[in-house]
Amino acid sequence: MAFQQDCLFCKIAAGDIPSTKVYEDERVLAFEDVNPQMPVHTLIVPKSHYDSIADGIPDEEMGHLFNTVAKVAALKGIDRSGFRVIVNTGDDACQTVHHIHVHVLGGEQMNDGSPKAR
Ligand code: AMP
Ligand code: ZN
Repeated sequence: MAFQQDCLFCKIAAGDIPSTKVYEDERVLAFEDVNPQMPVHTLIVPKSHYDSIADGIPDEEMGHLFNTVAKVAALKGIDRSGFRVIVNTGDDACQTVHHIHVHVLGGEQMNDGSPKAR
């Protein structure tokens, strides 16, 4: 979907708002979360705008987005130690930025998967 004028992550993906880049290709941008909850906390966004994981994202786009996770984990050096992937969706999950983003979290031991893992 097209660039949305009032969307923070559209602006970051377009380079209009600065971010610390971890990885970029023609479809996605990965950048450091400005308020990290773990030693490694990187966000991955598609350059196209989708509100959330429930926004009818085409398979090719979704596949590319999630195949980027392992690349980011390797670039951040947590591919062997392990990492957690979170996609907050909607109000109950406290989604605050309504442009789908994948959190890649790691770099220290986490608990056993409580929903409050962040
Ligand atoms: P969520 O609660 O899943 O919507 O997560 C939004 C995430 O975006 C939070 O972890 C914020 O710290 C992060 N965030 C907000 N603004 C920025 C920004 N300008 N650059 C990088 N990360 C940001
Ligand atoms: Zn957007």
